[in-house]
Amino acid sequence: MPRQEPRIRAKNFKEVALGYTPEMALEEANRCTQCPKRPCVDGCPVNVDIPEFIKALCEGNMPEAFKALKNKNALPGTCGRVCPQETQCEAKCTLAKQKAPVAIGRLERYVADWERNNKFAMLSASPLPLSSGKKVAVIGSGPAGLTAAADLAKKGHAVTIFEALHVGGGVLMYGIPEFRLPKEIVQNEVNFVKSLGVELVLDAVIGKINTLDELLNNGYDAVFLGTGAGLPMFLNIPGENLCGIYSANEWLTRINLMKAHLFPKYDTPLRMGKKVAVIGGGNVAMDAARCALRLCAEEVYIVYRRSEAELPARKEEVENAMEEGIIFKFPTNPIRFLDDGKGWVNGMECIEMELGESDTSGRRRPIPKKGSDTQSFDCFHH
Ligand SMILES: Cc1cc2nc3c(=O)[nH]c(=O)nc-3n(C[C@H](O)[C@H](O)[C@H](O)COP(=O)(O)OP(=O)(O)OC[C@H]3O[C@@H](n4cnc5c(N)ncnc54)[C@H](O)[C@@H]3O)c2cc1C
Repeated sequence: MPRQEPRIRAKNFKEVALGYTPEMALEEANRCTQCPKRPCVDGCPVNVDIPEFIKALCEGNMPEAFKALKNKNALPGTCGRVCPQETQCEAKCTLAKQKAPVAIGRLERYVADWERNNKFAMLSASPLPLSSGKKVAVIGSGPAGLTAAADLAKKGHAVTIFEALHVGGGVLMYGIPEFRLPKEIVQNEVNFVKSLGVELVLDAVIGKINTLDELLNNGYDAVFLGTGAGLPMFLNIPGENLCGIYSANEWLTRINLMKAHLFPKYDTPLRMGKKVAVIGGGNVAMDAARCALRLCAEEVYIVYRRSEAELPARKEEVENAMEEGIIFKFPTNPIRFLDDGKGWVNGMECIEMELGESDTSGRRRPIPKKGSDTQSFDCFHH
């Protein structure tokens, strides 16, 4: 799929992947053999009828392709971009045994984008089902809450989503950056859920404005908790409370939700040095590092305690980060952050790691390498 040039995209927040042209989409869709066993459907967590939507795409019937997707998945524009297809539907594709699997995610994105550009879902929304007479409260409007709300509404239940933040979408809005998942796309999917009759109440922290018991005693028959896992985990090493150290959650929220990258138009403070180190190797770490680069840090490091092969981030995102110039330090772990004497971080000490026995996750446990010297990183200059 065409992408922005690394040198150019590393300095802007516009979407990196540019999407298939109609010709590319058709060529890729025609690679699907419509095999009778349909293993891709089992590989999809929500069992989207993948062969069906690809067949409709091949026949040029975009409304049918979209319906087949949306029937099972309220968020195809999002999933087509950020779902780990390589370990799900595409991993199961019959073609994957000999060559590249059908690029199901990219086709899903193509169909969802067609709908957004043609306003098809809004115009052709099916009539709502007869009311079941039941009311459900959904707490949280991330992908879990939105999906539950859409499925419940399609069954005729009256659904209210309560969202703590001032905008719906959860991590899709405050965590994943614009250059991977444009916020207009997320809001289009939130609006689709609302078009099913779901009420979205913003700025509503359940537990503060209402307890669960109060909801259940005031007309709701059931409550779905989709509050996510938003609390950060820290390293528990000396110096981690110094100024200039952010959890990824705070860092990304300031940028994505509070638009720190558009300062001074948006008055959100964000202190960053010329050199930035991001600790970790998942999608969150890649996003945090690539944001720092776009905010004009001169050197951005990913410091990860295992090796490249164990990086949990999507391969595509690791490749994007490397192409953009992020520097990877494997297998390295920080043991202490250094103070500039005024309460701000100005470096960190790290040790080299090696991989020991496998742990409960099946991955080899990183342990400090015997005889490894402490390495100093002057990563943070203010
Ligand atoms: C930076 C980042 C990048 C990621 N990249 C990927 C990726 O590429 N691919 C992938 O598959 N996954 C990725 N993930 C993981 C994915 O985003 C999460 O698995 C997903 O968002 C979880 O959905 P959720 O609905 O359970 O929770 P969330 O998205 O966290 O949504 C929970 C919502 O509940 C609200 N809430 C919490 N408490 C309350 C309360 N008391 N009252 C009302 N509302 C409340 C929150 O404000 C939030 O809006 C990424 C995560 C992050 C942080």
